[in-house]
Amino acid sequence: MKIAILQVGMVEQSVLRRIQGSVSQVFPHTESVILKEVLSLPQEAYDDKRGQYNSSFLLDLVREYLKKTDANKILGITSADLYVPQLNFAFGEAELQGKVALISLHRLEPEFYGNSANISLFLERAIKEAVHEIGHTLGLNHCSNRSCVMSFSNTIGDVDRKKWEFCQKCSKQLSKLIDNMHH
Ligand code: ZN
Ligand code: ZN
Repeated sequence: MKIAILQVGMVEQSVLRRIQGSVSQVFPHTESVILKEVLSLPQEAYDDKRGQYNSSFLLDLVREYLKKTDANKILGITSADLYVPQLNFAFGEAELQGKVALISLHRLEPEFYGNSANISLFLERAIKEAVHEIGHTLGLNHCSNRSCVMSFSNTIGDVDRKKWEFCQKCSKQLSKLIDNMHH
């Protein structure tokens, strides 16, 4: 499996590279590439009242970039704060059993919660969210095991509670889903 990573707006290269490395490690038989192109944040996706970007709008734009690659899946990574209409914010969004995923780094920064900067904590959170959203594109649903990377995160506490690994059940299902992809 090949996963393309697309920078959406301003994101540090070092952060993209760390996520790229971890994604290739976590998913079996997977390589990932960082696309050279950058999707700039479109004004049309910005909601003035909320001060946030519409996640689904961006997801559609990220999808366009997949066509230019030979990758199976594409993950957009942005520092912008995202929302979906029914929720105050979204850590990320993905098509279930689809091809496109998007994560926001905005609320993963300890500084967002008034805490001091902590790059390793920040990266750990980003990797969890990236793995979670790619997991959805592979067909994994939310998991009730709170320490599984596929458990739903409503708060940053939920993100910190889970690991960036799949529980046994999700792990088994994942192997099956990836096997099916190749046949
Ligand atoms: Zn989810
Ligand atoms: Zn699980």
